[in-house]
Amino acid sequence: MRISVVGAGYVGLVAGACLANFGNEVICIDVDSLKIDSLKKGIIPIYEPGLKELVALNTKEERLSFTTDIKHGVESAEIIFIAVGTPEGEDGSADLSHVLAAAADIGKYMDGYKIIVNKSTVPVKTADLVRKKVRESQKNPIDFDVVSNPEFLREGSAIKDFTSPDRVIIGADTEKARSVMHRIYRNMERTGHPIIFTDVTSAELIKYASNGMLATRISFMNQLSHLCETTGADVKLVAKGMGLDKRIGPRFLQAGIGYGGSCFPKDVQALIKTLKQQGCEADILEAVERVNDRQKLFLAEKLKAAMPSLEGKKIAVWGLSFKPKTDDMREAPAIVIIDALNKAGCEVHAFDPVAMKSAERVLINVKYGSNPYDVLKDADALLVLTEWDEFRAPDFDRMKLLMSGRIILDGRNIYDPGEVRDAGFKYFGVGR
Ligand code: NAD
Repeated sequence: MRISVVGAGYVGLVAGACLANFGNEVICIDVDSLKIDSLKKGIIPIYEPGLKELVALNTKEERLSFTTDIKHGVESAEIIFIAVGTPEGEDGSADLSHVLAAAADIGKYMDGYKIIVNKSTVPVKTADLVRKKVRESQKNPIDFDVVSNPEFLREGSAIKDFTSPDRVIIGADTEKARSVMHRIYRNMERTGHPIIFTDVTSAELIKYASNGMLATRISFMNQLSHLCETTGADVKLVAKGMGLDKRIGPRFLQAGIGYGGSCFPKDVQALIKTLKQQGCEADILEAVERVNDRQKLFLAEKLKAAMPSLEGKKIAVWGLSFKPKTDDMREAPAIVIIDALNKAGCEVHAFDPVAMKSAERVLINVKYGSNPYDVLKDADALLVLTEWDEFRAPDFDRMKLLMSGRIILDGRNIYDPGEVRDAGFKYFGVGR
């Protein structure tokens, strides 16, 4: 099939490369000409394991190409995915300007029946706005369908998530659109990944409902972690015991420094806005958000409590991205924590295996090291903010020689507290 993808970011590029790898002819379109130029040269602008190889293979076999020419992209395809960003707007609701700009371009250059598939995360009922925008932009009336196909991939395991998803959600209101979408995804069904067909509105809501629930689990555990600390329970054991209940399950029960990233914060905000706009209460999600905002500062407060004064102290930070295996710094808790440390007068030295370049754009007062041990020299304390594998089994003896202080704050609960204490450090985790 001939497919175009508008927006070549984390989602559009992964979707485009994977759909090309299924044998489709895919054109990825982006307004960012620097990004498209890099992609044409085989340079991948984001860090995502396996993506470079997949793009190279499918480009070489001429199934995948890149352009800034939206007219060419629209005319060449029967199916057009919209995968542009939907950042948080000023009032917290999703900013749909990119989605609607893409819809206007599609309408303008449409030369025959098209299926317009919304893969961006958008508030329920956005399909109506897209439909209206396309119609208004058409030179002559041409038939089209708007489908909702929300994306659930996670950065860091995006290719695996796209090709082996827990489920594929397709919201379509016509038989024609359903049948074409089924053809795109049917190989996944054969490998045991179910396709769920719904109406467009339900599909749009499934994405926000899923992220809202996952964020709720994290905030629930973070709040419980405070009770663990005051009573002496260990939140990791509590999570393990809870997670074995099949009705609960083990995932997303880790206490830590709060959720971040490009999805949960803005999607929770957008869902709160939609609930309110529809005259519904949003109490649970409002609490989820408040807990998350407070949790981001929890580690900085622990550090303040552990040291008489932070003025002039040198603090080492391991990990900046909002989670491992990505360079995405959007809403990373590290931003809030480092800002709090700077305000308290600390000098922050940080290392992250892939996110330092993107961090430079959002963090001002930070010095970067070239490896984890580099930033420990004369450090009064170490904060672990992202659970990269390479931080999991450090050489504590080497750390002791380098650091002037003996404090480790483990914001991701990756260490065994006893082991760290035996190595001669003061250990502070979250909820243990
Ligand atoms: P991104 O910011 O990485 O990429 C968006 C791309 O769209 C950018 O390259 C931008 O230049 C391009 N763009 C903007 N307007 C355009 C236009 N009019 N025409 C062509 N290109 C345009 O965003 P992302 O992380 O890939 O997210 C895309 C959508 O998918 C969002 O709605 C997001 O919520 C959702 N989503 C993201 C993830 C994730 O993990 N990143 C997971 C699931 C869903």
